Formats: sequence, structure tokens, C-alpha cells
Amino acid sequence: MADARTNLFDLPRTGMEAFTRAVDDKPYRTHQIMKWAYHQRQLDFDGMTNLSKAFRAWLGEHSEFRLPEVVARYDSVDGTVKWVVRVGNGNCVETVLIPDRGRNTLCVSSQVGCMLDCTFCSTGKQGFNGNLTTGEIVGQVWLANQMLAERDETVSNVVLMGMGEPLLNFDAVLAATELMMDDLAFGISKRRVTISTAGVVPAIYELAKVTDVSLAISLHAPTNELRDRLVPLNRKYPIEALLDACRHYVGGLGERRSLTMEYTLMKGVNDDLSHARALAALLADVRCKINLIPFNPFPASGFERPEPDSVRRFQTYLMNQGYATMLRTTRGEDIAAACGQLVGEVQDRTRRQARYLARVRADEGETRTTTEEMV
Ligand code: SAH
Repeated sequence: MADARTNLFDLPRTGMEAFTRAVDDKPYRTHQIMKWAYHQRQLDFDGMTNLSKAFRAWLGEHSEFRLPEVVARYDSVDGTVKWVVRVGNGNCVETVLIPDRGRNTLCVSSQVGCMLDCTFCSTGKQGFNGNLTTGEIVGQVWLANQMLAERDETVSNVVLMGMGEPLLNFDAVLAATELMMDDLAFGISKRRVTISTAGVVPAIYELAKVTDVSLAISLHAPTNELRDRLVPLNRKYPIEALLDACRHYVGGLGERRSLTMEYTLMKGVNDDLSHARALAALLADVRCKINLIPFNPFPASGFERPEPDSVRRFQTYLMNQGYATMLRTTRGEDIAAACGQLVGEVQDRTRRQARYLARVRADEGETRTTTEEMV
């Protein structure tokens, strides 16, 4: 039977205050609990020694700090770590820690699989089986911090770029980012907590009302004709509407929200200099950085990574046009932890996973026949 006790990892500070008000109306009690759980990583109420015995007993009766279960861990030769964690209903999602010159970036998942089915992303091929809870999202950060504590480090940056579309799990993701940015919890600055979206336009307007979190847009194409094919959501929210929402989000000069355009480069698809030119023109009045991601392959994807030369040419063009343009180096490829390679274990509710697996098998069959023909 599921545990009926409240998972305190589900509650941002205001929720915690409301929860404990039932027995104790002093907010500093809540603050003490949060510091124990997030700063000292003490999840056992009995170890929270500055709380009264009666209060600890009440907490234990009604609540707990419940973490998702880690079922596997993979270590890449480049220091990247991938965890497979079990979330509701026995499904699993993946979390990736990318250490890089003193920074520890954690890529967290927000849904089991994804509904959007972008053609070049393997998560989409797994189909979909629901949203993660706030506790399951922040639990990923907590678990990474626990590992990093061994070397006296913490997660310095969080990107919601793992499995799922964060803005289709709006409330849970918002509460999770509040905890990431709250000094009583993870205390990461708003510039270092990034929600990445394929472009759920109404949700971007909602976000602008309630938070300052950094935003990344998976753009990938400078025209609707091309983007329709790569990101099916574009047919609902085309580029013009998306960029209007982006301009609204970054607001006037007074507001210092950060915006990044992500552009996965695929050979012969969107990596030509003409695409770079169109992109530069398109973004002329949007205050943003550009992040280029050379395509990461997965079985039967139908796409290829461009040659390093054409990646460089693309980047150089944008930089010469005055865009801060980063090239995301591929990390954790040997453990299938790179962007777009996260699959978890999704008990698919759609028929997409079955169709994809059939395609992979057909592809493998083809390779086998050609090899057989050769011998
Ligand atoms: N749904 C969200 C977050 C998950 S994807 C979004 O779309 O933004 C995180 C980033 O990885 C996105 O920019 C996505 O487009 C990119 N990505 C997906 N598949 C990829 C692949 N095979 N190679 C490189 N980048 C990929």
C-alpha cells in the first residue's frame, strides 16, 4: 500500500509552513527542518535535535522525506555520472551529473518519457507515462548532492533537460525550481536553474507571472517549415508566437531573466550556413544566448552529427553576428547520458515505444542481412 504520509520533498517553503502550522505556528520551526534536510542531509526526524520530541513524533506520524530509489548508476570515463531512479508506478527516469571545471551541472527529468515526440530525441520514442512529483524532481538533486558531499562539493547548476517536457508538468516543476533556488533548500541562483522547453507558449506566459528562473528554448530551426518536422509542437505554437513569449519573458531591460536558444545541429538538415543566417536574422530582437548541440546519435534515429568543421562554421557565423554562442561538448556518451539519449524505463501508455522498437529491430535486421550477403 502506498505511504499516506506527506512527502516533505513535495513542499516548497510556503507549503512546509502551512503543513507544520497544524501543530506549531512558528515559521522558524519549518526553517530548522529544511536546513536539516537540505543542508545537513539529515532526513531522520530523530536526528533533528533542535526540535522538541513531541514535534518530532508528530512529524514522523504525518510525514517523511521520501526519496526516489536509485536502481542503477553508470560512471563515464569523462566523470559524468548517470543514475536510473525509480519513480511512481515502477517507471524509471534518468538523471545526469556533469562535472566541469569546478561546476557540477545536474540534468534532471521532469516526466516519465515525453508526449512531444521530437523526431531527433530518443526520450520521445519511449512514449509517455505521467508526471514526476515535486519530490521526485528535487529528490534527484538531493541524491546528487549526497554523492558530491564525498568530495565536499554540491550541485551548482540544474537544468531541466532530462526526460520530459517541464512546462507540461507545470506546478510540480515550479515548486521544484522554488526549492532549488531557496536558500533554506538548495540555494542555487536563478541564473543557474534552467527550465528547458520545446515551446509550450501559454506556459511561458504563466511562468513570467510567478518566477525568474532561467529559460532555454529548444528552437532547432529558423523556419516553421523545418521546425514543424523536427518539433511537432511547432504546429500548435509556431516560431512567431514562441518568440513573442520569449520577448515577454525576458521583459524590458530592467528584468534580468536569462534566455538561451538551443539548437541541435543535424547533418544536412539544419546545419547549413543559410540556416545560420536565417537564425541570426530571426533572433535579432530577442535578448538571448545561443547554445549549439551537435546531434547525439541513438539507434534508428535517422539523423547524423555534422562534421566538426561545419559545426565550427555555424558557430563562427553566429559569433560574428554578435551572438554569445556556446558549443555544448558531448559528455557521457559512453554511458548514453548525452542530450537526447535518456530513455529510463517507461511503461508506455502510447503505442510509440512499440513502433520505435519495431523500427530498431528492422534496422538491425537490415544490417545483418547486408553483412550476411557480404560473407
Ligand atoms: N523537453 C525539453 C527538455 C528536454 S530535451 C525541451 O525540449 O527542451 C533537452 C535538450 O536536448 C533539448 O534542447 C533537446 O532538443 C536536446 N536534444 C534532444 N535530443 C537530442 C539529440 N539526439 N542530440 C542532441 N540534442 C538533443
